Amino acid sequence: MTAEILSVGTELLLGQIVDTHAPRMARILADCGISCMRRTTVGDNLERVAEAVGESLAGCDVLVTIGGLGPTMDDVTRDAIAQALGDSLIREADVESRLRQFFASRGAAWSETIARQADRPESAQFIENPNGTAPGLVCEKNGKTVFALPGPKGEFNPMADGPVRQMLGRLQGGQVIHSRVLRIVGMGESHVEDLVRDLMSGDNPSVAPYAHPNEVHLRLTARSQSIEGAEKVIEPVDAEIRRRLGDAVFGVDDVTLEEAVVELLRECSKTVGVAESITGGEICARITNVPGCSEVFAGGFVTYALEAKIELLGVPKTVLERFGPVSSETAQAMAEGARERLGTDFGLGVTGNAGPTSDIDGKPVGLVYVAVASSSGVEVFEHRFRGLREDIRRRASQAALAAVRGVARGQQH
Ligand code: ATP
Repeated sequence: MTAEILSVGTELLLGQIVDTHAPRMARILADCGISCMRRTTVGDNLERVAEAVGESLAGCDVLVTIGGLGPTMDDVTRDAIAQALGDSLIREADVESRLRQFFASRGAAWSETIARQADRPESAQFIENPNGTAPGLVCEKNGKTVFALPGPKGEFNPMADGPVRQMLGRLQGGQVIHSRVLRIVGMGESHVEDLVRDLMSGDNPSVAPYAHPNEVHLRLTARSQSIEGAEKVIEPVDAEIRRRLGDAVFGVDDVTLEEAVVELLRECSKTVGVAESITGGEICARITNVPGCSEVFAGGFVTYALEAKIELLGVPKTVLERFGPVSSETAQAMAEGARERLGTDFGLGVTGNAGPTSDIDGKPVGLVYVAVASSSGVEVFEHRFRGLREDIRRRASQAALAAVRGVARGQQH
């Protein structure tokens, strides 16, 4: 079975927004065992979108369109699909009345163009959109299937990952295709691959690695008659991967490293305080993105000037003079300072040189020290990161979160 993806939007052609949905859709098609043969982008023009739909359907079994389902006159996807399929548009009274109620409940003005979202090509069914006003569409005609999904991310993602993934799985033989992503930190992609290479030749579940900035993801995808069945197929391989990779696996699916850290600290009833130099508050920002973090996170210091390190964290002046601000000793003193001043179980200290150009006291760009202080002493980790300033800072915050997780896990065992 083959597929194409058609992204609709003049903003995409002008480079004003980046097409992030098409790659996501491509991955879903791949998960479902459907080969994506082509991706196309067309502006908001009825004739050109209809032509692109027609061309795609001549060559593939499944077409997924993205965007252009909204209420304004430049949202042409619905009309274009109808035109390409030779369908007329039918207005669904139920959907229109739900739209009217929605607008009335918000005191928003009604306009006749809004009702266009209640139109569907004759051969289409609506796909519910609990996150927006424009429903998606699935049209089946002449052995071809067209999915039309809305553009806003908060609407596209759940529809693509939910009902559309399920329908694609059914098209591909009535089976459910279900994936689980294992998220790994502190190990490079090739190292992970080396450790699980034999599992990657399996077919059910398939195991595929994806390198993400500062993380590696392993996607385990299984085919079965039900999601529960697919979970059972995935389980032993998941367990084997964890046995081989150990603590490097920090979470599943959408769990972020900061969520994993907060959850772990909560589990072991421990608290953390942070002292940041190179990351400028990013570690605190990431931790505080996690709801309920105040149970485990006491606070943090952003200290760039030497005086700030001395006064706010109690870093000895002699340490700064002798070893410099980018040093293992300074990171250690920052971690101890944060722990002591905030009265936490763990103190996390991070210092380094983010660049972009010059050494700091002979310390090269990308050199980062992360220290974790606890009742058992201080552990310091040295990293040499490459990349732009923002990459180095992001890697430093990732390494810092990974370090506190590693130390907390070590004490838990
Ligand atoms: P709306 O009701 O907002 O008009 P729509 O289905 O008509 O929804 P578009 O108008 O095409 O969608 O796009 C709305 C917004 O969705 C865009 O401004 C953009 O932020 C986002 N978007 C659309 N297509 C994509 C895409 N391919 N990748 C990433 N974002 C996209």
